Parts: sequence; structure tokens; C-alpha cells
Amino acid sequence: MQPGVLWQTVLGEIELSVSHGNFVTWFKNTSLLKHENDLLVVGVPNIFIKQQLEKKYGDLIAQTLGKNGVKVATIEFKVAARTEKSKPAESPAPKQGETKPEAPAGNRTAQTNIGGGVGHSYRQGLNERYTFDNFVVGASNELAFAACQAVAQKSGTKYNPLFLYGGVGIGKTHLIQAVGNTVAARNPDSKVLYISTEQFVQEFVDALRFRKTAAFARHYRTADVLIVDDIQFIAGKEKMQEEFFHTFNALHQANKQIILSADKPPKDIPTLEDRLRSRFAGGMGIDMQIPDFETRCAIVQAKASSHESPLDNEVVEYLATSLHTNIRELEGALNQLLAYCEMRGLEPTLAIASSLLNVSKTRPKHLSAKQIIERTARHFQVPVEDIIGPKRDKDIVVPRQIAMYILRNELKLSFPKIAKELGRKDHTTAIHSVDKIDREIRSDINMRMAVSEIREHLYA
Ligand code: ADP
Ligand code: MG
Repeated sequence: MQPGVLWQTVLGEIELSVSHGNFVTWFKNTSLLKHENDLLVVGVPNIFIKQQLEKKYGDLIAQTLGKNGVKVATIEFKVAARTEKSKPAESPAPKQGETKPEAPAGNRTAQTNIGGGVGHSYRQGLNERYTFDNFVVGASNELAFAACQAVAQKSGTKYNPLFLYGGVGIGKTHLIQAVGNTVAARNPDSKVLYISTEQFVQEFVDALRFRKTAAFARHYRTADVLIVDDIQFIAGKEKMQEEFFHTFNALHQANKQIILSADKPPKDIPTLEDRLRSRFAGGMGIDMQIPDFETRCAIVQAKASSHESPLDNEVVEYLATSLHTNIRELEGALNQLLAYCEMRGLEPTLAIASSLLNVSKTRPKHLSAKQIIERTARHFQVPVEDIIGPKRDKDIVVPRQIAMYILRNELKLSFPKIAKELGRKDHTTAIHSVDKIDREIRSDINMRMAVSEIREHLYA
């Protein structure tokens, strides 16, 4: 067999036996450099992939080769310099193994109206971009990952509630969403509800105001899986805590799964009623940490590969070293780097990465909502009055959505506050807009470039 054909065959089989995320991350950009007697040399794009393949996948590769009648004594992995973008050197790109970059998130399913009855879609709040497949596992999160997978396989019996806690931007939302997506995909009729505590409280306040508390209670107490994110925000909200206590009990007694996340363990959440505290602590609590250096590198690799711009080692290492407290920020820096380079037709280098990061470190902190809205309006050459006004034309709506996205990401404003800044009454518009732009940035280079340019001007 021709070396190229052999490797294509091997990759094709491996693709069927590992998850899509793992395949894309670890195998997609490999090639066969050499096959002589009983030595096989596999070209890999960088040292992290080399280590991972050596550590975890050597046996699988050997077995797959064996199945194709090729016995080798030694498999070596060699970091092969890339001569062209996204194409391994010295060998044609393995066509069969080529996969499309991770598909952009699918449609976010419509929100359920708590008062409504017909046409219910129960996947409230789930975002399909969060999967187990595209979650990179390392020492800091493997326990959480395993617990979430166990709960996704068998909901309600084990680990109830499952309570993930840890700092900001370390993958809590990703994992608990992945549970919801897995359950919902396996059983489309199940009622899987994901909600941020911020929105949960808002809905409850609305329900009180419009005398719809019964509908609110019914909606949440009949869930099969209820996922409430950032539950620390329930602190100090007495009525909400009381309502949630009853919801919790109803679900727990019926062996329905409850999944919670917070920035700290139940015992450290201030002004939380004791009875809730003990309920929260009554299941499985898992302390998540920021991923270690190696895992952060793998995350950068995985995210860069879905953008189809493989990164040099030194750039990956630089990002993973500089951004060591928050994966969201790490992702943000990576996206910024990729957009900056795409816009200018450059290959990402260490020099560019470090100059971009140093600029962002000296960012002024006094940016206002008004400046963001004005800058966005200017970018699209539309009047500010239109952005904050009632118009619904597409050329106004998109800039408005982008302004919302930037307000959320740069100023961390709450959704009701974002809605207010843009003259909207309903904060769910802000939630949808931010989510929509977040998705489009991943799949649409023009969107990525627009947001990146507005940001650059804001901080120029
Ligand atoms: P948290 O809820 O803990 O604040 P998120 O789950 O929102 O953090 O994670 C922040 C971002 O980092 C998300 O885009 C998420 O997909 C990404 N992320 C975090 N951990 C991982 C991981 N281990 N693998 C892949 N992506 C990750
Ligand atoms: Mg979160």
C-alpha cells in the first residue's frame, strides 16, 4: 500500500473509533512521513499533539495498522514543519481524514414561555456548541468531566444534585450544558431546562409581577433535568430561595436530575438559607480548577484547529502562559490574534501575539457603554439614535446586536442593563443577541473582523 493511502485508511478507521473532537484535535493534521521495515514515522503539527499521541493513542494506531496487515515495531511521532497553511509537509493532506472544522453551533432552540402551553420546546437555554466532544480533559477537570458524563448517562439516581464549583471561565457552564445537550439528544422528549440564575430570578420576579407564579412553579417542577448556572446569584434573594427550595424538593423526590454551578462551594455562599445550603451539599460537589499548562495548550490547539489556522508551538505556549487564570480570556486572546492576522493576511507569530496581549494589558478601564455604542454605530455608519431607537431594519439590528455583545464582553454588564442601554424593554432580546453574535463570530470571518476592528478602535 502507498504510504499516503495507508495513512488515509488508518485515519479513516480511527475517525470512527474516537470522538469527533478528539479526532479533529489529535489526528486531523497528521501525516505519514516514513514507513520502512518495521519503523513508522508520523508527522504531527506540534509537540503537544506528539505527547498526547504517544501517551494515549500509540496502541490504537498500532492496532489499526495491524488490522490493515501492517506490523511495525516502532511508531515515532515527529514534529513536522509546515510549509503551507493547514497542510502537513512532505505528504499530501489525508483526504479521507480531513474533516470540516467543528460545525458552528446549531440553532439555539427557542426559549420556552413559562405561561405558554402549546408547541413547547423543552431545550430551554441549551446551546449546542457546548459538547463533551469539544471539551479538553486534563487533571484539573477530569473528575468534573467524569461526573458530568455519568449524570448524562444515568440522570437522577447518582450524584443528585451535581454541584460544580470553581472560578470564572474554567469550563463549568460548558460541562453542565454538555450534560443537557447529551440528555436532550438521546431523549428528545425529555424536558431538559438550562437557565442562568440571573435569568431565573428575572423570570421569577416577572412571574410575581404578573401573578404567574403557579405557571412558573409548574414549569420548573416538571423538568426531567434542571440545570441552574451560577447559583451563587441566588444569595440574598429570599423569596426566590424559598421557591427554589420547593422546586428542588419536588424534583429530588421524583428522582429528577438537578445540576448546579457556582463560583464557590455551598458552605461559602453568603446569605444562603441553611436548608438550601444543606440540599446543595447533599449530592456530589466537585471543585474545578483552572486547567494546567498542558491542558491549556491543548485547548488553544483545539480551538485554533476549528478556525483552520494551526498555530506554532511558541505561540500556543505563549498564550497558555500569559493567560493562566481564565479559559474564556484565553479563548478571547486567541480569537483576537486570529482575527488580527486574518484581516492582514499574516501568519500568527509570537511577536504579533505578544504585542496584541501587551496592548490589551494596558487597556484603559474607563470605557463607557456610550462609547461602545457610538463606536459601533460609527463602524457601520448608522446614526446612534437608530441603534437605540425602535427601527427593526437589518442594517440597524445587526449593529445593535454587536453593540450588545461588546457591552457584555467588555463591560460585563447584566442583560437587563444592556437592554436598557440600547433602549430595549425586554432583556431576553439582549440574551439572544449576545448569544447570536457569539455564535456568528465563530463561523463568520466578517463578523469576527467587524467586532475585532471595533474593539481595536475602542482601545486605540
Ligand atoms: P465558567 O462557566 O466556568 O465560567 P465556561 O464554561 O463558560 O466557564 O468556559 C469559558 C470558555 O472556555 C467557554 O467558551 C468554554 O467552551 C471554554 N472552555 C473552558 N474549559 C474548556 C475545556 N476544558 N475545553 C474546551 N473549552 C473549554
Ligand atoms: Mg459559567
